[in-house]
Amino acid sequence: MSDKQATQQARLKPVRKTGWFSGLLWISIFALTIITMGWVTRLESDQTLHQDAELTAQRWTRAIAGLEAEPERLFGNQALDPQTRLRLSRLNEQSGVFGFWLFDLGGKLVRNSNEAGQPGTARQSALGKMALPAMDGPLRTALLGGLPQTQISRAAIANGPQVYAVVDVAVLHQGRPIGLARIVVDETQRADAADEGLLRIAMVVSLLLAAIGALALYQHLVSRRKQHSSDAHLRYLAAHDALSGALNRASLIAALTREVARSGSRKPAIALLRIDLDRFKDINDAFGHAIGDAALKATTERLAACLGSKDKLARLEGDEFAILLVGPGSREAVLPIARAVQHALAQPMDVSGHHVRCNGSTGIALPGDAAVTADELMSHAELALFRAKSGGRGNFVFHDPERDREVIAQRALTRDLRTALAQGELSVYYQPLFDNDGQTLVGYEALLRWCHAAQGDVPPAVFVPLAEAAELIDEIGLWVLRQACSDASQWPGALSVAVNLSANQFASGALVRQVARALADAGLEADRLCLEITESVLLNNSEQVMKTLRKLGALGVSIAMDDFGTGFSSLAYLWRFPFDKIKIDQVFTKNMVDDPKVAMIVRSIVMLAHSLEIRINAEGVETVEQLALLQDLGCHELQGFLLGRPGPVASLSHAGHDPSQGHARPRGESRESLFATIAMDLPHHHHG
Ligand code: C2E
Ligand code: CA
Ligand code: CA
Repeated sequence: MSDKQATQQARLKPVRKTGWFSGLLWISIFALTIITMGWVTRLESDQTLHQDAELTAQRWTRAIAGLEAEPERLFGNQALDPQTRLRLSRLNEQSGVFGFWLFDLGGKLVRNSNEAGQPGTARQSALGKMALPAMDGPLRTALLGGLPQTQISRAAIANGPQVYAVVDVAVLHQGRPIGLARIVVDETQRADAADEGLLRIAMVVSLLLAAIGALALYQHLVSRRKQHSSDAHLRYLAAHDALSGALNRASLIAALTREVARSGSRKPAIALLRIDLDRFKDINDAFGHAIGDAALKATTERLAACLGSKDKLARLEGDEFAILLVGPGSREAVLPIARAVQHALAQPMDVSGHHVRCNGSTGIALPGDAAVTADELMSHAELALFRAKSGGRGNFVFHDPERDREVIAQRALTRDLRTALAQGELSVYYQPLFDNDGQTLVGYEALLRWCHAAQGDVPPAVFVPLAEAAELIDEIGLWVLRQACSDASQWPGALSVAVNLSANQFASGALVRQVARALADAGLEADRLCLEITESVLLNNSEQVMKTLRKLGALGVSIAMDDFGTGFSSLAYLWRFPFDKIKIDQVFTKNMVDDPKVAMIVRSIVMLAHSLEIRINAEGVETVEQLALLQDLGCHELQGFLLGRPGPVASLSHAGHDPSQGHARPRGESRESLFATIAMDLPHHHHG
């Protein structure tokens, strides 16, 4: 189960690496768009500047050609008159030309903008430093062919324009070329204006993109948060028990492992409690699963209320819980908490109007001096729990290596017992019961036998308590009952059968129905069946048991009190329920010959039974002395190895049975005469 949950947990881990990846992709797209836009706008801007520079240059060349009557002179060697210089300089200022060079048609430089009388040679010397192509053949041909050459530059000229164009162009006069010009056009303002416009567009576009991006990001985050919370929910489901909300086994083991690891080489200050609700199955059977579930929830709440903030509560499965205490590392520290847990469990619960009560048994493990793992703690606590359950339940028990060693063997036996019935290893033996004469067979007691495949015969005194602790006795006991009824139905009419019932069989509330059914299915008369119970049956919840016993009595079945005299004072029970038979325990039979006090006690019991008109049986008759004494005392029924050992049904000869008796003898048979004997006998013994 724990493995399954662990893999389930692993499977639930989110497989989601796309989060950062899509973010990165988005940022890349955004950046790429911005870069592309910048590049496109720069191209666009350069194109605009290019066109503008060319227009300016053409205007300028037309103006220069119209500057004089004979513009050819400008491309000659002669010096310019002041008037022409002035006009040239004005022309430059108006048209935004920063400087120029004039070449003759052969490509020879004839003058530069200094001759326009512009101030300072600084400008010209700055221009002079520019690396410009020579006015050579191919360029000249292109210019004369009407193809001006323009170069935009954004590398600022010292003391000059930030952005400028160098335009090479042919100067025409009356439709024919008269020279070549290289003009530097200041494009700074125009470039600024163009850039500003484009910048604005770029800003709007990037704002838009950013808005879209932000929206996408927001949506991404929202869906991620949703995913996150559903992941958290899944993780919660994987770590918790759905019914009770407590942790599940895998989470508890994980927490335990963490605590053990955290303490390193030191002994961890923790304690592990394993709790099993006693006979929880009966609640399910009696009230249905909905009430059972509600009781489990209520129990979870109660347990949780006993815990500190660091402690952990888990429901391992079914009605099994575990508590990890963090902090208390000694028996003394754990004791008050264990008591509180026990107390919390013992309180009756009110579940949907039903009064439900289920005690719990608790096994407690503390880390020993040797290194301890989570697994070891779990199994130590479980062994202790097992001992708590077999030691009467409703209790807590600490792990004890010595004592838990036996438990390991018992547990192995319990495990085998689970399958014993299905494997046909169980059988019912019958021990004869005789009348006071020691010869007339009146019936048999059914005794369970287990032939273990490997260990051979296991005594019922060993495995019956195990079956009770493991809550297997209901099933096994029912099987014995049905088997005994069916076997008895084949016996001569007068013979009865006595079946032992365990206290647990009274708890489910199904006993009366089961008995009636067994009788009906076997076709056995009810008065041929006797049910033997011990005082332990009456110890807890005796009101309900009394009711059940009364119903069984009403069926016609007789009820015997087994092992009388060994438990508590049974007199109150004798008074409260009209038992049909009392079985004096073997201890008395064994000791009565040697110990007159024991004989007196037996005598008193027999007397008591006679007065109450209850049949009296003596068990464990092994010697003729015992037989004689018991016969003398007036025991109605005798049982023991001397008279007959238990044997399989096939071995029964029914020797001694009285065929004249068509039916089981009525209870208190031959009471009159026996009672008379005793009454006469008593004073004699009293004085002696
Ligand atoms: P019990 O009900 O007191 O059964 C009588 C036990 O005494 C039987 O032991 C029987 O074999 C033994 N016995 C009979 N005569 C003598 C004798 O002369 N000397 C000695 N020393 N012993 C004698 P067994 O069969 O081992 O059963 C032991 C106990 O196991 C029973 O005690 C009963 O409490 C329990 N048990 C047996 N079968 C069942 C069953 O089907 N259901 C339940 N709930 N308990 C059973
Ligand atoms: Ca018995
Ligand atoms: Ca007995």
